[in-house]
Amino acid sequence: MANVYNFNAGPAMLPPAVLEQVQAELRDYRGKGMSVMEMSHRSKEFEAVNASAEAAFKRLAGVGDGYRALFLQGGASTQFAMVPLNFLPPGGSADYLVNGSWAEKAVEEAALLGTARTVASTKADGYRRMPRPDEVTVSPDAAYVHLTSNETIQGVQFHEWPDVGSTPLVADMSSDIFSRPLDGKKFALLYAGAQKNLGPSGVAVVLLREDWLAKANKNVPTMLRYATHVKNNSLYNTPPSFAVYVLDLVLAWIEKNGGTAGMAERNERKAKLLYDAIDQSGGFYAGHAEPASRSRMNVTFRLAAEAMEKAFLAEASAAGMVGLAGHRSVGGVRASIYNAVGEDACRALAGLMTDFAKKNG
Ligand code: PMP
Repeated sequence: MANVYNFNAGPAMLPPAVLEQVQAELRDYRGKGMSVMEMSHRSKEFEAVNASAEAAFKRLAGVGDGYRALFLQGGASTQFAMVPLNFLPPGGSADYLVNGSWAEKAVEEAALLGTARTVASTKADGYRRMPRPDEVTVSPDAAYVHLTSNETIQGVQFHEWPDVGSTPLVADMSSDIFSRPLDGKKFALLYAGAQKNLGPSGVAVVLLREDWLAKANKNVPTMLRYATHVKNNSLYNTPPSFAVYVLDLVLAWIEKNGGTAGMAERNERKAKLLYDAIDQSGGFYAGHAEPASRSRMNVTFRLAAEAMEKAFLAEASAAGMVGLAGHRSVGGVRASIYNAVGEDACRALAGLMTDFAKKNG
């Protein structure tokens, strides 16, 4: 087996223990003589998987009755539309904090459906930081405020939630969900594509507060209406059953490994290894994010010249470190170090960074 350190941004590394369990159960899931992907989604086995995943997601998000977790298709990108379709009332408006490329996409989608105001944009600063609390002023008539907890491309992350008063708060947590403790009760709705911290691609999770759902628009196409999926426990139509099964195993893995607090502790140590390598390089590496907004999930940096970046990526690749090229829209280097990525991978990359800087600085 090829030994690689996987720094992919998503789809991304999954916990090896989960992959081993999937492999062990692939031909015969609990004596049924078939894998979960070959079973009816109406079977009691799959219904148990679906219910287990919802319960685990809610436990990890720190919410109980009054919240539902849904497993939907169309990725986080479909949520960019579903949120305003359901919650932007005719003639109303919503506020969007725009602090990176994914938030830009979210606000552009909402603007197709109604009034979406950009507030607290950090575009003029090159999306190097999240807004300070005093920069966030919520419009009094906003139906909701939307933020992106971690900007996967720029590598900036909220470390403190802005105060939005009693306005419903909506968050795209695709790239840092369950990487640290989460008080889900602060949010009316949050969503995440699974393919970074939760499982394989093909499923997105939505957590929503049921009392807010009562206020949702009614004339929304069936599949795009949250109420449809709440009423049917995410089984209105054929769900991405295999992805939900793997997601359930990943959630169990998180709970077995210290929960979100355990993840946070490890993620802090992992990120520190890489940021220390940047900070101690005497300027050889330039981190993109301002220190206070640095992401613990996506560490982004540049080298002095593109040719040097190419040489760095080639050396990393030769050492078995893959997925380090920055997003095609910004270039540079990006190390995505989601929950499943081990400290050993970060130590190896930090070592390579230090050696490479010594040789080429
Ligand atoms: N939001 C964020 C923060 C993301 O990182 C991504 C994907 N990289 C998306 C949304 C889009 O997700 P999907 O590909 O599941 O539509």
